[in-house]
Amino acid sequence: MELLKKRILKDGIVIKDRILKVDSFLNHQMDIELFNEIGKEFKNRFKHKNITKILTIEASGIGIACIAAQHFNNVPVIFAKKYSATNLDKDAYEAEVYSFTKEESYKIRVSKKYINSEDRILIIDDFLASGSAALGLIDIIRQAEAEVCGIGIVIEKYFQGGRKMIEECGVELESLAIIEDMKNNIVTFK
Ligand code: 5GP
Repeated sequence: MELLKKRILKDGIVIKDRILKVDSFLNHQMDIELFNEIGKEFKNRFKHKNITKILTIEASGIGIACIAAQHFNNVPVIFAKKYSATNLDKDAYEAEVYSFTKEESYKIRVSKKYINSEDRILIIDDFLASGSAALGLIDIIRQAEAEVCGIGIVIEKYFQGGRKMIEECGVELESLAIIEDMKNNIVTFK
């Protein structure tokens, strides 16, 4: 998506060759006009999938997922909640995720009330790095015996290996900007 790539080059800040900060339009201040174009593009790429719900993870996936949902007939958006506590909640599906940015593991949970076996779910998130967050979300959908219809990612850091993990799960992955590498703090697209 050219508009997004241009914005990354203009406003993205690379930290230590591995973290891309996009606080001015995606992760802190949100550019709603751009979010709307992102939502439209996700719809284009997943239009034949009969999506019934969108699943994301708090916090930065929520805004993108909500705008995208408006392009999918206003389907409900569910966001997985993050917990550091280890106590098991019987009424929730649970998975473990390793945080790339914080370098620690945490649990994510979704109440069993909000996913059922008839659901056809699209996962949406801001970044794909190692794939841990996406794999946790796939795990939760599969625990509910619902269908994982695809993953829509705004920015994929290809060099961190997440794509391979997703493909091994047999899930379609669509990323709107794919970064080949960020060596010397310079963004190069694939
Ligand atoms: P993964 O689980 O694929 O390793 O990492 C994806 C998650 O980590 C995303 O939900 C995102 O919030 C966060 N993340 C990973 N890399 C970056 C990055 O370079 N910049 C920002 N802002 N978030 C990132």
